[in-house]
Amino acid sequence: MMKCPNCQSKDLGKIGINQYYCWNCFIELSVNKEMIYTHQVEEDGSLSSLDDLFDEDSRKLS
Ligand SMILES: [Zn+2]
Repeated sequence: MMKCPNCQSKDLGKIGINQYYCWNCFIELSVNKEMIYTHQVEEDGSLSSLDDLFDEDSRKLS
C-alpha cells in the first residue's frame, strides 16, 4: 500500500495515471519506476518539486 512520504497518510486520491493527491497534506505524488515523486501545487497552479525533502528510501515503493 502506498503512503505519502510527507505525512505517512494513506488517504491518497488517484488523479491520473500514476498520479495521486494526498488529502492530508495536499501535495501531489507521482510514481515512476517504483519511486514516488512529490510536488507542491503553487497558488498559480504550477508544480514545484519537494523531492529534496525526502531521502530515496522514504520515497521507494515497498
Ligand atoms: Zn501527505
